[in-house]
Amino acid sequence: MSARSDELKHNLAAVRSRIADAAASAGRDLDEINLIVVTKTFPLSDVEILYELGVRDFGENRDQEGSAKAPQMPADVIWHFQGQIQSNKLKSISLWADLIHSLDEIRHAMLIDSLSPGKSVLIQISLDTDNENRGGVKPTELQEFVNQLTTKTQLDLRGFMAVGPLGQAPLTAFSRLREIVKDFPKYPVLSAGMSNDFIEAISMGATHVRIGSQILGVR
Ligand SMILES: *Cc1c(COP(=O)(O)O)cnc(C)c1O
Repeated sequence: MSARSDELKHNLAAVRSRIADAAASAGRDLDEINLIVVTKTFPLSDVEILYELGVRDFGENRDQEGSAKAPQMPADVIWHFQGQIQSNKLKSISLWADLIHSLDEIRHAMLIDSLSPGKSVLIQISLDTDNENRGGVKPTELQEFVNQLTTKTQLDLRGFMAVGPLGQAPLTAFSRLREIVKDFPKYPVLSAGMSNDFIEAISMGATHVRIGSQILGVR
């Protein structure tokens, strides 16, 4: 085994064990929690090592990287796109991404639906409390967004995604997220939690955690 394989194996085991502890202390079934390893900025060789270690869910933020890596990996990999969406990249993203986490504009939903009817998507929710716009649908506009998405498209809406906002305690932000998504039990996926806040996200109901640096190292 190479030094890099050893390192990734060790980090992956550590993260898996922290996920198991977080699930246990939240009284949740470990099977409900899916680990997505975010490989953005890291080479295909790392993706291959992680695949050998049993990882099947990978996340990317940029079309350029995802479209290069995805075709080189076996078909049982599930590719997640969680980056900011640009319309001119959607045609390519729709080809390689199995689940798009970061949908926050109806015109993008309609475009995805025309390129790849029935594609699986999550709606990104903004948890920002200031006037910054770091992406995501405002909670007050979520019901209307869901109505439009489900009436105007055939997309397979699975649930919601959020990023822990800057300057807020993760537990506070994710507990608010949990209250927001309670109104939408038909869409049970909740993608929340990154390297620095996945424990809190799991305690507040995350079904998918997106972890990069704790496994791959700093970017
Ligand atoms: C980069 C990124 C991640 C992974 O972040 P880490 O802090 O490296 O775990 C997860 N989600 C999104 C949206 C990201 O941009």
